[in-house]
This record gives sequence, structure tokens and C-alpha cells, in this order.
Amino acid sequence: MFLSAKRYSALRLIAMLIAVVMVFSATVYTSVPQTFVSAKSEEQELKDEIARLEKEQKELKKKRDQINDNLSAEKEKQESYQKEIDNVKEQLEVYQEQIDTVNGEISDTEEKIETRQDEIKDTNNDITAKEAEIEENDELFKERLDTMYIANSSNSVLAMLLGAESFSDFLSATETVKSISESDQQLLEELDQQHKELQALKDKLEKDKQELEDAKQDLEDQKAELVTAKADYEKKKDELDDLYEESGIKIASYKDQKEDIEEEIMDHEVAIKENEADLKKLQEEASKADDEWNNGHGGGSSSGGGGSDGGSGSGSGSGGSDGGSSQVKPSTGYMWPLDGGHVTSYYGGARGHKGVDLSTGVVGTKIFASRTGKVVDVQYWDGHSKDDMQSYGNMVRIYHPETGTYTRYAHCVSIAVSEGQWVNQGQVIAYMGNTGNSFGPHLHFELSTGASNSTRINPLPYIQ
Ligand SMILES: [Zn+2]
Repeated sequence: MFLSAKRYSALRLIAMLIAVVMVFSATVYTSVPQTFVSAKSEEQELKDEIARLEKEQKELKKKRDQINDNLSAEKEKQESYQKEIDNVKEQLEVYQEQIDTVNGEISDTEEKIETRQDEIKDTNNDITAKEAEIEENDELFKERLDTMYIANSSNSVLAMLLGAESFSDFLSATETVKSISESDQQLLEELDQQHKELQALKDKLEKDKQELEDAKQDLEDQKAELVTAKADYEKKKDELDDLYEESGIKIASYKDQKEDIEEEIMDHEVAIKENEADLKKLQEEASKADDEWNNGHGGGSSSGGGGSDGGSGSGSGSGGSDGGSSQVKPSTGYMWPLDGGHVTSYYGGARGHKGVDLSTGVVGTKIFASRTGKVVDVQYWDGHSKDDMQSYGNMVRIYHPETGTYTRYAHCVSIAVSEGQWVNQGQVIAYMGNTGNSFGPHLHFELSTGASNSTRINPLPYIQ
């Protein structure tokens, strides 16, 4: 509703130039603040805003491209990490296989060692048994010899031989001694030989076992090397895993950034579109109002026809019959909007008052259109806070095509006009009240050089 009331035209500039010329040629009356001419129009504001947004958009897109570059570079980096990790994993598998093989060989060797150990133990037992046998036979042999000696007094063998009855006995005795001696000797020699063989077997087994122990040691060394190499690769893999993870975090962050910036770009796109739409609408509506004005608007004002009221009286001839007592400022074409009254609060000040408060102290006092124009905004609203409405209460806003300016009348008790209606200067448009953010009956009066609230100026020099 508010937007539809914003109006501007190219004629505004001409009207303003006329106003400026008039101001300078009629300095007798009043001086006009510089803000009136230098204030930026709503149209220009929108154009500036669009230009600013487009510039920002360009920068955002540049930033997005940079982020995209970073993102793909990081992705490439991560891929290369992945490749390295795969290689390291393969190498780790190879090492593990080799370690497994060596472990198998070690346990085989250990089994063999155990077998040898058992064999050695058995051989040792055999040796011990053989030694016992030798010992025993040796004892028996000695005993037999001793018996022979003892039987024949001090020299038993000789006695046995000498004691022979006959030569044949003698020979027989000799043979007996000899055969006993020889068989014992043979037995002992055999046992000794067996003992030696067992000893040799044991030595061979011990040697065999030692070789196996050496082989096992070699395998253990190999295994230790493999374990160390594997541990190095595991460390490498851990490092790569960390790098991969860091890369992943970076990628996620870039993706977030990208998302944010895409959102921002989209917001900008929307803002640019909205501003462009506002601008178009503003241009269309302003030119419509200006066309109406140029073609003699519906208000039937006698003061119409493009700035002819510059120095003359008000357009009270037709509609503004109540404006007679109000003073029109010949220099500017605006009139004091009340019948009498005085200023109760000036423009500006510490609280940033963007208008002047005028009052007669009486609720219902007539409020006049300060200048001929089109009613562009009527708000029957008595709230406390509303976006950029500053608790105006019941409010009227009028667009003045001659100058491209707007006047606002707030805190009214009631309003006598409606939106889209043309009004003549001095015509009753509302009645003074105390609605909205107001303390005591008064009229809050504003003058702005454009539709935007940012273009409000001090109205007092124009109406006093
Ligand atoms: Zn005020």
C-alpha cells in the first residue's frame, strides 16, 4: 500500500529547478535549506542500491569461484592421500604375509628343535645305559679274574694252571682262561664301540640342534626387520589417515562456505530483483501521477497546471474553502496546515524528530492539505510500534507532482480523504487528534523530497 504511493517523474527535476530559480529570485521571503535540492530521490536511492548489490554480487561470485578452486584443489589432495593410503595398505599386507611366513618357519624350526631335543634326551639315556652296561661288564670281568687269582692262593691263574693234573688239564685250563679273557675283552670292546657310536649320534644331534637354533635366530632377525618395516608403514599410514581426515575437514568447511556464499548470492539476486521491481513500480506510478497532473487531475483544482501556484494564493477556489485564513508561502507554494496554532516541537533535536509538531490545543481542529496533490497513503492505525511508521496513529500522506515532494499529517483523530484522491491546497483532509505515539492533541507534520523516509527535511521554512 505504501509502495504504491511512491511517485516520481522526470518532471520533478524541472519542477525542482523552477523552485530553485524561484527561491533564488525571491530571497525576500525566506531562505531554503540546501537539503531540499540536494536530497537524493527515492529513484536514485534504488538505483544506487542496485548498483551496490550488483557490485557486491560480483565480489561474492569471485569469492565463490575462489572457494570452488580451493575445494577442487583440496579434493585432488585428498584423492592423492587416498592413493598413498592404498599403496601403504598394500605394502602392509605384503609385510604381514611375509611376517606370517616367517612366523610359520619359526614354529616349524621350533618343532624341529624340540624333536632334536627329544632325540638328544633319548640318546643321552642310551649313553647312560650303555655306560652302565660297560661298567657292569667291566666289574664282572674283574670279579672273574679276581676269583681265579683267589682260588689259586696269591696267584690264582698261575695256581689254576699249576694245579692241573695233566698236560691236557693244563691246556684246558689255559684255554679256559684265555677264552674267558677273550670273550670279556670282546664284549667290552663291543660295548665301548656302541658307546662311541651313541656319543657320535649325540654330537650330531647337538650340532643339528645348534644349526636349527641358528636358523631360528636368522628367522627371528628377519621377523624383527619385517616388524620394524611394517611399523614404519603403519606410522606412515597413521600420518596419511590424519592428512586425509584434515583434508576432509577442509573440504567440509569449503562446502559450508560454498553453501553460505551461494545462499548470499541468491539473497542478493532476490534483493536486486526486488529493488528493480520497486524501481520499475515507482517509475510507473510516478509517471502515472505526473500524467494525471499534466492532463488536469480529478481534483479540479484551480491551481493545477504545473507549478503555476508558485507565487499566487492557494487553490481554495473550488475544494479548499477552509484554507482562507491559512498563510501560503509564496516562495515555496506550501501553506501552514492549520487554522492558527503554533509550533510545539521543532524538527531534529536529540530525539531526531523528523517533522514539526503544530497545535491549537483542540482535538478536531481542521487540517488542510499544505499543497495540491494526490493522497497516496492513508493509515487508520493506532498501534504503538510498526516498521518505520513511528506510531503515527491515524495518518495521511500526499504526493505533490509539481515538486516531487510528499507531506505527511499524523496523530489525527479522524481522516476526511481516501487513497488515490486528488486534493487541493487548503482542502480539509483530517482533524487534529492524539492517536499513536502522541501526548496531547497535535499535528505531526512532515515534508520529504522523496517517498523514502530518509528524505525528510525540516518543513518549517516552507510553511512559516
Ligand atoms: Zn511530531
